[in-house]
Amino acid sequence: MKIAVAKGDGIGPEIMDAVITIFNANKVPIEYEIVEMGKWVFDKCFNNGMTPEAQETIEKLGILFKGPMETPKGKGVKSINVTARKTWNTYANKRVFQTLHGVDTVFSKAGIPIDITVVRENIEDTYGGIEHMITHDVALSRRFITRPGSLQLIKYAFEMARKNESRRITCSHKANIMKLTDGLFLDCFYEVAKEYPELKADDVIVDDLCMKLVTRPDLFDVVVLTNLQGDIVSDLCAGLVGGLGFAPSANIGDHICIFEAVHGTAPDIARKNIANPTALLLSGIAMLRHLGFMENASTIENSLLYTLENGIHTGDFGDKTIPSVNTPAFAEAVISNFGKLPKQGAKPKGTNKEITPTMFKLDINPMLVSKDIEEEKIVGVDFFIESSEQPEIIAKKCQRHGGVKFKLVSISNRGTQVWPTGSKYTNLVNQYNVRFETLDGEELFQQDVLGLYVSLSGNFKICSSELLNMWGGKKAYSMAQGQ
Ligand code: NAD
Repeated sequence: MKIAVAKGDGIGPEIMDAVITIFNANKVPIEYEIVEMGKWVFDKCFNNGMTPEAQETIEKLGILFKGPMETPKGKGVKSINVTARKTWNTYANKRVFQTLHGVDTVFSKAGIPIDITVVRENIEDTYGGIEHMITHDVALSRRFITRPGSLQLIKYAFEMARKNESRRITCSHKANIMKLTDGLFLDCFYEVAKEYPELKADDVIVDDLCMKLVTRPDLFDVVVLTNLQGDIVSDLCAGLVGGLGFAPSANIGDHICIFEAVHGTAPDIARKNIANPTALLLSGIAMLRHLGFMENASTIENSLLYTLENGIHTGDFGDKTIPSVNTPAFAEAVISNFGKLPKQGAKPKGTNKEITPTMFKLDINPMLVSKDIEEEKIVGVDFFIESSEQPEIIAKKCQRHGGVKFKLVSISNRGTQVWPTGSKYTNLVNQYNVRFETLDGEELFQQDVLGLYVSLSGNFKICSSELLNMWGGKKAYSMAQGQ
């Protein structure tokens, strides 16, 4: 078995060397092919932060074990970490947060055990980074939540929960506000849940989840979220178990998986050999389990837990009355404890059964489509226009353009209706949504909408537009607040 390794920037090489030393000492049957990724690759003008050879190797081997990487600021390049996850469609981000004895937290002191797995969607949501300045005062981010993207993630989460015999799987969301986007994600969750009747599946609004996580984290087992909310909640969970230095992460795709620590390159302590390798080691242990090396994974994890339990620590955590050790000494302590079991949380000894990832040589991009399209008709259009005028004046101008097909039904500003009804206390910015609907309930066509666009552009700068669709008798768009 061979995997690709990118050591990363800052403390990356120090902690990666420590982890590989531990793996080699435990005779993990893996070979490592080092690939070139990270800041210095950006500096050599590879705008995705990796050389073409690195990309080819990773696509051939299917597993990337990576250290943290720095994305140069102010050069207009996108984060290499996000690029890697998106390029290879590692659609599920899995992070396990568990109580580690020897790492003091308020919960460990109170005797409240934590074992939470956060499964976060890894591709969609605001992480598309599709943003536009609509006017000089208004920025717009497009948030895509798709049915096939959500189903892919949620099916992975349920399969994992079934395999681990999880006691609860919870979807967290904000569907009370984002009825279409988070509503779609939630619908997909309960659609998949029907196939797993043995699992207790429920949902919780994300703000409520945050409150409950910091009061009763032991109530949760597997939590499934969309990308941005998942990002925030997983760092919150990292805090519950002692910080980012203890948070492993696996990015799972059908063809390529990436295992990495959650923390960054820690430039403030780089090249001092004092960084904590625990998070990367835990990510590596998750990788070993993914590849079927259960025995190696258990031995190394038990020895890590034993080492922590015995108070061995790097400078960033632990009992300050016990002197800290540096990164290589921490690795040596783990190695010297192979075969020992921690008093609490010992992992069962597994048997190695190598699982070779199935690699496909794809000729074309497969299209992700999950559902037959329901009967669909266009019933109106939203135009997002730039204007500093008052709503009544805008309404008068818009009404001139409706013609025989359209009527102006609503004007809103930042999602709140300001015409035909509204309040003079609603703050306005210089960008409105003017909503036109079909005059007589008749179906509209794109040509009708384009005609209205041309006509309206005589009065206003149209920044963007969206069709108002009806699907199977249901509105496929949201209403303004107060509409
Ligand atoms: P950071 O995680 O690098 O550091 C935050 C603080 O935590 C620092 O004080 C640091 O010393 C400490 N710290 C982090 N990891 C540690 C470890 N293993 N042992 C001991 N202490 C540790 O976050 P940052 O300073 O915001 O980011 C620095 C750089 O890392 C940025 O360029 C950022 O883009 C990059 N980054 C990369 C990743 C990734 O590759 N997955 C993730 C986050 C940030």
